[in-house]
Amino acid sequence: MFLEDITERKLALQKLEYLAFHDELTGLPNRAAFYRDLHEQAATAAGLVQIALLKINHFQEVINRGGHSLGDASVRAVVARLAAKILATPEPRPTLYRFDGNLLGMIYADDSDKLRIPGALSASLHEPCHAAGHELYLSLSIGITELTGNTGMNGHEVEEALRRADLAMNQAKQLGGNGIVAFDRDLELRHQYRQAMKRVLESALARSELYLCYQPQMQLESGIIAGAEALVRWRHGELGQVSPADFIPVAEDDGLIVEIGAWIMVQACRDCAQWSRHSGQPVGVSVNVSARQMLHSNLLLTVERALNESGLPPSLLELEITESVAIGALESVASQLEALVYMGISISLDDFGTGYSSLSYLNQVPVNKLKIDQSFIKGLPQDDVQVSSVKAIIGLARNLGLGTVAEGIETKAQSDCLAALGCDTIQGYWLGEPMADVPFKEFLSSRRVALVRDKIS
Ligand code: C2E
Ligand code: MG
Ligand code: MG
Repeated sequence: MFLEDITERKLALQKLEYLAFHDELTGLPNRAAFYRDLHEQAATAAGLVQIALLKINHFQEVINRGGHSLGDASVRAVVARLAAKILATPEPRPTLYRFDGNLLGMIYADDSDKLRIPGALSASLHEPCHAAGHELYLSLSIGITELTGNTGMNGHEVEEALRRADLAMNQAKQLGGNGIVAFDRDLELRHQYRQAMKRVLESALARSELYLCYQPQMQLESGIIAGAEALVRWRHGELGQVSPADFIPVAEDDGLIVEIGAWIMVQACRDCAQWSRHSGQPVGVSVNVSARQMLHSNLLLTVERALNESGLPPSLLELEITESVAIGALESVASQLEALVYMGISISLDDFGTGYSSLSYLNQVPVNKLKIDQSFIKGLPQDDVQVSSVKAIIGLARNLGLGTVAEGIETKAQSDCLAALGCDTIQGYWLGEPMADVPFKEFLSSRRVALVRDKIS
């Protein structure tokens, strides 16, 4: 009786211990086990130990598609695929952990090529996974870092190693697809720069450090300047001139984009409302709106306010969007855009053809124009492949009843080539660089004079 009691207790204890260190969904060891093993490795391993954080990409999209049950099934499918790959690797084999949701961890022995194992795991997902009757193309963002064994690491160092792996993983996520990034000093410096930028960006609006430049767009057939793209600029006392490509993502991360985006919208509409009066012909403005901006704020309200305040007719406002959205929220983005189109605003798909904007996107959101990315323009008119690509994009736009704007035109030869291919509108340094409001108005006047002169002569 006494012996039976002990055995039962032992079994219960084992079960409790199993539950404490294992993930119920996948049967993998869990986050607590990761910490326990990492401490142990740090104390006993002779050399370096590699750790990795692996995040399943587009997980929210999977959940939107089939609910949390499909989310769970997809995690199980990925884990099964990775576990099979790990079993096929020679000893010492890596250990995989599931932290929570779509986040996995891994500890593996040092390797002359530390990207080899993560690379093999990532490649094992090239074939689609089957989960709950769905065929899913899943991929991972992997961040790795190393720690030195035999250091008697304390809790702080474990946390620091995880922070580094997390930083690398987030960088991998930004690269998109099956990114793998190893932590290094450069990454840390870039992170610190971003953090510093975030702190000063908060006061940029209040200190009037932001301003807008306008880059003209010309209709190829008529030679008329029908509009301009608004491009935000930031001049900071110490950082100097900061590119929007650098600070817009920081503003998005921080939610600051809501305030900055609203300011851009009002300012662009105000300036544009004056151009038509000034030049005697309608000139529109095209405002870049990152999709994250739509998720964080009520874009419809922002646009309505800017139009009311400036008196700009909706037909002169265009919004440029890209696909680099939290794709999971496509439905909400699409419904906001539909309401905007209903108001008479047009939507153009920026950077078309780069992978940030794809054909499937065209089916899901209302779009009036395609902006052909500048990477397709560089080789015109000599590069046959680029000529064919641009021709195909223009053909596609025509068939769908959409307009085309080509960006990054730097030479007359490129402009002539685009005219021959039937592109509607061009934008680029050849026509005019982005310029502040006053020079832009002067540009409009001089172009108008030139156009009238050309017509008379
Ligand atoms: P984008 O919307 O694709 O803008 C085109 C970029 O190409 C601009 O860079 C422009 O200055 C540059 N560009 C124009 N013509 C030429 C040319 O002939 N050759 C070359 N090589 N480049 C040319 P910029 O102003 O640095 O903007 C970079 C990106 O930042 C923009 O790409 C856009 O995604 C984002 N951005 C700019 N302003 C805003 C804004 O107000 N709001 C949001 N959300 N994003 C913005
Ligand atoms: Mg743009
Ligand atoms: Mg673009």
